[in-house]
Amino acid sequence: MPRSSTRKPAVPPRRRRRTPAAASPPHPIVGAHQSIAGGFTKAVERALETGCDCLQVFTRNINRWDVAPLDPEQAADFRAAVKAAGLRMVIAHDSYLINPAAADDTLRNKSIAGLVVELERAEALGIPWVVAHPGAAGEQPLDVAVARAADGIAAALAATRRLAAGVLIETTAGQGTCLGADFGEIGAMLARIDAAPGLRHRVGVCLDTCHVFAAGYPLAPQAALDETLRRFDAEIGLDRLVAIHANDSKKDLGSRVDRHEAIGKGKIGRAAFGLLVNHPRLRGIPLFLETPKEDAQGVMTPAQDRVNLGVLRRLAKPGRSA
Ligand SMILES: [Zn+2]
Ligand SMILES: [Zn+2]
Repeated sequence: MPRSSTRKPAVPPRRRRRTPAAASPPHPIVGAHQSIAGGFTKAVERALETGCDCLQVFTRNINRWDVAPLDPEQAADFRAAVKAAGLRMVIAHDSYLINPAAADDTLRNKSIAGLVVELERAEALGIPWVVAHPGAAGEQPLDVAVARAADGIAAALAATRRLAAGVLIETTAGQGTCLGADFGEIGAMLARIDAAPGLRHRVGVCLDTCHVFAAGYPLAPQAALDETLRRFDAEIGLDRLVAIHANDSKKDLGSRVDRHEAIGKGKIGRAAFGLLVNHPRLRGIPLFLETPKEDAQGVMTPAQDRVNLGVLRRLAKPGRSA
């Protein structure tokens, strides 16, 4: 029931304005992929150490099909650590072996079963989304492969109806016969999955800046970024965009080669990331770094994430809190 609008505010107007601003999320919401080496809670420690607002993890060894069952105690510890750390969002990324578009039935069935395991593990860890690549067409005609990928993802979602965790289909660079470099392909997959009853709310999209750039979608100047996002909206729907992978690209626009680079050090460049983090249509969507963590000597260090997060934060224009 609405309260009387004539009632005098209990607190002075200035204070009332400031309170929701203090509670509103940081802008931009930025974090990174972190390793679970040493245990799931280590990833949260790494996120805190580098100053992440959000976190992406693998929930298993991504280069193997077999996976040991998740220890419920470890999962509970991870959920508690995420809560204590105040992370805004945690997402998982699936195994690179999974190919729901595969022409070979054995591989495809294994992929669907693999996606089910990914969703079950994410759910146990309190992770709402699993980022998944749509797979590779191989020798199949494109439309056949797109339908097969969508139906494979839908099958995994349908087999896990009791779960809240869902799939984010990731835009890809289109290396080889990989699907998902064209927004229209992802749109077609979503349409097919949405056609199955009760799955729509469990499927969204993750836009990878390096991948879309390598696939041929420019991210700067402003008019080009606007057009790329207009096309994304027309062919996929910006309402389906849940997460962004923030990666610069070692390779050129349209190269279809996927090589991540530190923010501002690649072919996308600092100015484009400035446009991205301030774009009104992308506001509030968390950005996850998947940029190299090695220093000049090739040693893994948290310093690289700190630098990249700092670049993104400094590019964000203050004000206009949501
Ligand atoms: Zn990515
Ligand atoms: Zn990539």
